[in-house]
Amino acid sequence: MNVDKLMNELEKKHQGEVEYLQAVREVLDSIADVYNENPQFESAAIIERLVEPDRILTFKVPWITDNGQVNVNLGYRVQFNNAIGPYKGGLRFHPSVNLSSLKFLGFEQIFKNSLTTLPLGGAKGGSDFNPKGKSDSEIMRFCQSFMTELWNLIGPETDVPAGDIGVGAREIGYLYGMYKKLAKENTGVLTGKGLNWGGSLVRPEATGFGNVYFAKELLANKGESLEGKTVAISGFGNVAWGAALKATELGAKVIAISGPDGYIYDPEGIKGEKIDFMLELRATNEDIVQPFSYEFDSGQFYEGRKPWELKVDIALPCAIQNELNKEDAEKLVENGCMCVSEGANMPCTPEAIDVFQNNNILFGPAKAANAGGVATSGLEMTQNSMKLHWSRNEVDQRLHKIMSDIHNACVEYGKDENGNIDYMKGANIAGFLKVANAMLDQGVI
Ligand code: NDP
Repeated sequence: MNVDKLMNELEKKHQGEVEYLQAVREVLDSIADVYNENPQFESAAIIERLVEPDRILTFKVPWITDNGQVNVNLGYRVQFNNAIGPYKGGLRFHPSVNLSSLKFLGFEQIFKNSLTTLPLGGAKGGSDFNPKGKSDSEIMRFCQSFMTELWNLIGPETDVPAGDIGVGAREIGYLYGMYKKLAKENTGVLTGKGLNWGGSLVRPEATGFGNVYFAKELLANKGESLEGKTVAISGFGNVAWGAALKATELGAKVIAISGPDGYIYDPEGIKGEKIDFMLELRATNEDIVQPFSYEFDSGQFYEGRKPWELKVDIALPCAIQNELNKEDAEKLVENGCMCVSEGANMPCTPEAIDVFQNNNILFGPAKAANAGGVATSGLEMTQNSMKLHWSRNEVDQRLHKIMSDIHNACVEYGKDENGNIDYMKGANIAGFLKVANAMLDQGVI
């Protein structure tokens, strides 16, 4: 494989798909040596087949506002690869959604799902619909319209979507309701379902929990622990609040949390009733970060700034892609940060990752560090097909074990002859080999 040549061809074929090309480049750079040592990959054109999705569904989603206005959004499902299991990956509802962002997320999902050790293929989907400020009934009508196109393509053994940005328990409920009606079946076709209709305990907070478990493993490998460490987290969505809860439970102190408009610094720690307060605001679709500073004296709001300027031991970017750049990374390093674990997908730019790696900062790449969400979705699928409901403790323990296994796989494939570990390389190689070997076994399809 010649990475530059392949990237040139992809750039010509998929002009302007910046995020997708960025994600492919990162993986190709990591796996090139292993790929070239195994000529059977080249002769089966594994990489050329892997970088293109199996199929993409694009559709229009018409829906009516409460005051009778007809709107049209775009809907997508990108089914990337199902060599090791049914397509699996979230749905994102956000104005920034386009084919490039969904192809980047779907491509990443292949390797992430492979790392979980569960039989899950890779996919992603969503819409440029913005749920912010919409009423419940508008959300419901949108989700129903979205599902009238999607339902034919998905199924419990074919493709099992989940939530992502803008798609939480409420949206999954409306999507599932419509699927059930159209397919005339009640099966585990979506994950992130409500607890009394097939959902799994711990799923809402699983990505954040998993990210903190991964950070714990990173630190343990260096003889460190979370106890007493200060933590900055970006975002206050599904991933961020789970991370804040678990980090606190394991003895760390979360001193910053952020939104698109700025961050809160609270030296006394963001935990307990403070997290409950933010969750309440989140449930009502209100702004979260600034009101925190009105409610709690210890919290100060820094408008238009990012939490990476603070002195912290651990940074957990949990909001959105490319939110932590080179300058942010340099500030974190300058201030003595020792560990960065990605809760969001691709939150650190390639230049930021270079800064971390050149300064020996423990760096947990998203496809390993945030795999806990999809892993717990996999556990939800298992419970659905077994018609069982595991206890909170059982799910949490399985999640913990999966994150620790993912960490070990990264170490196995990412350690060099001097004992240094490149977790990004390790995650890419471990995730790739399983999928590539399955593709070889299954012939050219
Ligand atoms: P949510 O929509 O629940 O939360 C995203 C949060 O980030 C919101 O609080 C949002 O604020 C905030 N935000 C958006 N842009 C910025 C910014 N530039 N700076 C700071 N905060 C910002 O999404 P999730 O928590 O589900 O997902 C977050 C990330 O994690 C995404 O990259 C997603 O793909 C990834 N991920 C999610 C998984 C899951 O299980 N949910 C699984 C694996 C990865 P506001 O609402 O005001 O816009």
